[in-house]
Amino acid sequence: MIHRYRFGWLFTMDGTPIQDATVTVEGDQIVSIEEAGIWPDVIDLRDWAVMPALVNAHTHLEFSNLDHPLGTEGMAFSQWIPEVIRYRQGFGENLAQEKALAIRAGLKQSAGFGVGVVGEIATLPLAEAAYDRSDVHVVSMLETLGLDPELIEQRKQQATEHADYRWSSSSVTSALSPHAPYSTSWELIDHCVALSQEYQLPLAMHLAESLEELELLESGTGPFRTILENMGLFRAADFPGGCKPANYIERLSSAYRAMVVHGNYLGEKGMEILHQHADTMTVCYCPRTHAFFHHPEHPIETLLADGIRVVLGTDSRSSNPDLNLWAEVQAVHQKFPDIAAEQLLTMVTSDAAFALGVEESFGSIEPGKRAIVSAFCIGQDSPDVLSQMLAGQPRLWDLGSGLDQLDVATA
Ligand SMILES: [Zn+2]
Repeated sequence: MIHRYRFGWLFTMDGTPIQDATVTVEGDQIVSIEEAGIWPDVIDLRDWAVMPALVNAHTHLEFSNLDHPLGTEGMAFSQWIPEVIRYRQGFGENLAQEKALAIRAGLKQSAGFGVGVVGEIATLPLAEAAYDRSDVHVVSMLETLGLDPELIEQRKQQATEHADYRWSSSSVTSALSPHAPYSTSWELIDHCVALSQEYQLPLAMHLAESLEELELLESGTGPFRTILENMGLFRAADFPGGCKPANYIERLSSAYRAMVVHGNYLGEKGMEILHQHADTMTVCYCPRTHAFFHHPEHPIETLLADGIRVVLGTDSRSSNPDLNLWAEVQAVHQKFPDIAAEQLLTMVTSDAAFALGVEESFGSIEPGKRAIVSAFCIGQDSPDVLSQMLAGQPRLWDLGSGLDQLDVATA
């Protein structure tokens, strides 16, 4: 089945935006893009500006049924972590069931905000059925963590199985996520890096997120040490001191693709290594979660000036009120008005698709890619389309399904 759509503006993310463009779609793929073009069967959507479906580079969908973030705004990160553990434990034996419901809800919420791909940090047991029947492509990044030497082999095995997992749906792909320096042994991190190379899978790790993390790495002390001691997991050999996020970035740099999630406190050395590996490494900034913890200003502008890809994520609803990725774009635009609007678009499309290893199907509007887009109602003859988009809210359109299925209500 072929569908043709004529849009007021088309931001392909592959060259300059096109005013008055016709996109031809066959099945679920884009076939061609033409300027204007008179087709007898074209669907006229010239009130709309369209860009690739948004890509949320980092979230944890299992918290999507929370009404509001856990804890209180401005609390120390190390105090918030136990809140998360308590929340999950609160489900008792219903955890798997509740998790599946929250993931399903989170995918629906994402689609409602114009998001077509999510970098989802997945925990075991996998809620595979929850990923099905969704318009949203899921990059399932298995959270791998552990400091207990007795569990390391089992965790390594689980990561290997995930890398090699055969999903029943083509709208799910595998990826890896060693959790964070305070929770994950070097041996597990190295195993994930090796899997990333072997299977050519992207990897994401929470890193340089909090001052407490820095203290643990630097001197083996602080609130994280206390938490680990209380859980019976602290061993001085794991945290001998004299270590920095840069040491981890160096190790991750040999992965096929590596995304540093947060990167609030990268340090000069950390930035230098990221710069050296800018062809495979990205930094994921989660603006509203960053604000929730009252971190000092994110180094996004320095990273961009250094040629390092920055992508955006919502993180989860345990530290963010919703999964609205466009609200993250708006937050960056407000806080860093000097960052060009075009650059903001790459952070939630092409660069994010690259970070998640799905750039062959998503991240730009080109022949051969999936016909799924984010659409903004702008009216005709808009004087400043990008400003209107930044002030607006996109919806997700699967162009393969025809006009009847698109939400084209303008009110
Ligand atoms: Zn996270």
